[in-house]
Amino acid sequence: MAVQSLPADFYTSFLSKEAKERRPSPIRSLFPLEATPGLISLLVGKPNASTFPFTSLQFTARSPTDPSKETSQTLTGDELAEGLQYGPTAGIPSLIEWVHGLQEKVHGRKKGEGWRVSIGSGSQDIIYKAVHAMVNPGDAVLVESPVYAGVIPIFHTLNNEMVEVATDANGIVSSSLRSILENWPVEKPKPKVLYTVPYGCNPTGMTATVERRREVLALAREHNFLILEDDPYFYLYYGPNPRPPSYFALELEEPEVGRVLRFDSLSKILSSGIRIGFTSGPAPIVNALDGHTATANLQTPSLTQTIVFALLDSWGYDNFLTHTENVSKFYKEKRDVFEAAMQKHLGGLAEWTPPESGMFYWFKLLLPSTSDSDSEGDSEALITTKAFENGVLALPGTAFLPNGRKTAYVRASFSLLSESQVDEALRRLREVILEAQCN
Ligand code: PMP
Repeated sequence: MAVQSLPADFYTSFLSKEAKERRPSPIRSLFPLEATPGLISLLVGKPNASTFPFTSLQFTARSPTDPSKETSQTLTGDELAEGLQYGPTAGIPSLIEWVHGLQEKVHGRKKGEGWRVSIGSGSQDIIYKAVHAMVNPGDAVLVESPVYAGVIPIFHTLNNEMVEVATDANGIVSSSLRSILENWPVEKPKPKVLYTVPYGCNPTGMTATVERRREVLALAREHNFLILEDDPYFYLYYGPNPRPPSYFALELEEPEVGRVLRFDSLSKILSSGIRIGFTSGPAPIVNALDGHTATANLQTPSLTQTIVFALLDSWGYDNFLTHTENVSKFYKEKRDVFEAAMQKHLGGLAEWTPPESGMFYWFKLLLPSTSDSDSEGDSEALITTKAFENGVLALPGTAFLPNGRKTAYVRASFSLLSESQVDEALRRLREVILEAQCN
């Protein structure tokens, strides 16, 4: 059955003033015409590539199916030329096609059904641009709480009111979201967007259940907002199967699709320094964020896209998914090591739910409260001074609360440490918690 997509004009009210007022780049908007057969183009100021000194580029990568085997690839000719030259704003066509195929395979979303893809310099780049494409200064926005610290400054600089939606180990507490929306003041415009990290959330490590996701989608329809699904830990899932579907996949159950703008990242699975992320979502919104790219940085570097595409194309989707399974197994082992050390050192001193995806533990220190206003205690002084002095660094939970209120929570990342480092870090943390409990 054909998917029923929301019509393009539905998104007009979702575009920010900035996006609506931005005039298309006079040059970039004519790029597609250059492909007209027989045309002689005097259009773009592309440098003549014969003056570029690079003649070939070689890289070697481990095989996903046999890590002891390495394969080398050499980029030359047209492939290298594409990487060395300016390219389309949304990304090089081959990588965009590859992403379309991936989204169909993984999320069941077919090309040409009202959504499109744009490549960014990491997902952070496109999240920033997506927010600017949709949100006006001073708007209220819905954010899960605690929230990824990297989006707080995006909303802060737009002077947005971040309306915090409670989360628990099952994801966004939909009853709390419902109550916020049902009690929304009539004279105040309702939020256009909800930001969430539904797998292995940074910082809480939670993975939202399918039931919660369904409820949030139903609320998006009822109260007319779009979901910004920031999902860099999707491929790091190591919880029970079947895994919950993404919002991007789940909205196929809705009467009309088009309420989800999804952000993927290659940072945690291929390389964080290569800076490739991509968004998949309603074409009018993605067009608007491309408008931002066309004025801000023209495009994501062609060369990194060329390298990434060469690797992914040589793998094919099956090997890509084998690679991501290997990555998630790696993090599961790290999680298990961390969990064992948490139980050994912090049992009775902290509360937590083991994550099922990603690389973060979020735990609540059982501290004596210091005042009536912080009944759960405050992790900040203990973590930033006492723990640091005792040789262990972590992040106090307050960094993930838009209003910076005190909290007894702490975020610990377990991606890099060996078993002995984890053991020693949590032993040191135990010492300072015990000391704090005695004072
Ligand atoms: N979103 C979340 C939730 C993250 O944790 C991160 C990385 N810290 C990003 C976005 C940005 O990732 P990228 O490297 O793709 O820009």
